[in-house]
Amino acid sequence: MRVERLILEDFRNFTRAEFLPAPGVNVIYGNNAQGKTNLMEALYLLTGQRSFRPSRESDLVRFGQSQGIIEADFFAGGRSQNVRMVLGGGRKTVSLNELPVQPSELTGRYFAVVFSPTELSLVKEGPAQRRSFLDSAISQVMPRYLKTLAAMNRALSQRNTVLGDMSRFAGLEGMLEVWDRSFAKMAYSVIHARRRYIRRLSPKAGEVYKGISGGREELTVAYQCTIPGNWDAMTQQEGEQAVLEALAANRGEDLRLGFTGVGPHRDDMDLRIDGISARSFGSQGQQRSCALALKLAECGVIEEIAGERPIVLLDDVLSELDKKRRDYFLSDIHGGQVFLTCCDSGSIRGVTRGMTIRVDRGQLRSRRVTEGRASRKTDKEEAQDVPASGTGHGGTHQ
Ligand code: ATP
Ligand code: MG
Repeated sequence: MRVERLILEDFRNFTRAEFLPAPGVNVIYGNNAQGKTNLMEALYLLTGQRSFRPSRESDLVRFGQSQGIIEADFFAGGRSQNVRMVLGGGRKTVSLNELPVQPSELTGRYFAVVFSPTELSLVKEGPAQRRSFLDSAISQVMPRYLKTLAAMNRALSQRNTVLGDMSRFAGLEGMLEVWDRSFAKMAYSVIHARRRYIRRLSPKAGEVYKGISGGREELTVAYQCTIPGNWDAMTQQEGEQAVLEALAANRGEDLRLGFTGVGPHRDDMDLRIDGISARSFGSQGQQRSCALALKLAECGVIEEIAGERPIVLLDDVLSELDKKRRDYFLSDIHGGQVFLTCCDSGSIRGVTRGMTIRVDRGQLRSRRVTEGRASRKTDKEEAQDVPASGTGHGGTHQ
């Protein structure tokens, strides 16, 4: 898919902005705190998912305003479509092709994968980051997964409350068992979905990693489950039983600590380069390459399942990478639409086809790039770039 037009109104520090992205690489540049990440965030929010940076819904609306709008024309499913998201009052109101829809219904219609510096440390950080990568990747291709995950977390939190109460009150075993059963049911579904997703992701990540490492290293991805058992061969009933048995075996420890020590909320994704743990032994470069490979593989899985290549949003990550890895991203390997941010457009060489967009205090100015040279945009684009707020034209091109 590709975004053909983006309009922002009272979104973050944008009063009004509009631009027509190029189908290839779009380089968004400007000084610090001008709105580059805000622009990436707007493009991402149209997936219907929560923002990739921690914020409240109300933070998205420009200070002092009650309502903000993100609107895009995009091409997907073989046709031009329109999505409009109105933010304000602590909720999102969405319409797709002028029909009202729930934000979750955008999943499967509008696809974006975001890559920010936090994700560069996906490999070396703790398991929570890898679980969150997995959960958000799965929810893009299986929207109902988020509901299952939320139901599991509710059962988990109830179970933990009962565990805490049991140190003070007697006779709560029956209640604990109720929550054990409810947790086991959801936990099985979460483990099953994660394992199935990794089966698709692993060969793709391996392929990308091979490309990045020049064919010298091999990456494998596996699900590391805290519930013992042969998960390859289990039916749903056997899986739920395995969770119940693990909870029973761990009950003493859970009671002592006051929380549940086994289950999908403690699982991990095992990443190995040539059979050796990337987290424990990978070099900085290997760990970053591994994170890149996972993200590109995520795009591959979406394309395989939905038949659409997602737009790729690279926020501030290219400066962190060496030239080889940078070129890998900027080359045609991705083949789709890419948006990337940096402070200095000169630092991005190698873009032969696309657009540069300068962001200056929430205003946009764009230029097409043909064969590595930036050219002035057409009059029509110029007219569309000028913010309707009339507060000026932003900065000049550099
Ligand atoms: P950097 O290069 O440092 O990453 P950036 O261009 O990515 O900078 P953004 O993160 O997009 O910068 O933020 C730009 C500005 O937007 C910040 O100064 C922030 O205070 C402002 N901002 C964030 N939310 C709102 C809001 N709701 N209303 C108005 N301004 C906001
Ligand atoms: Mg930023």
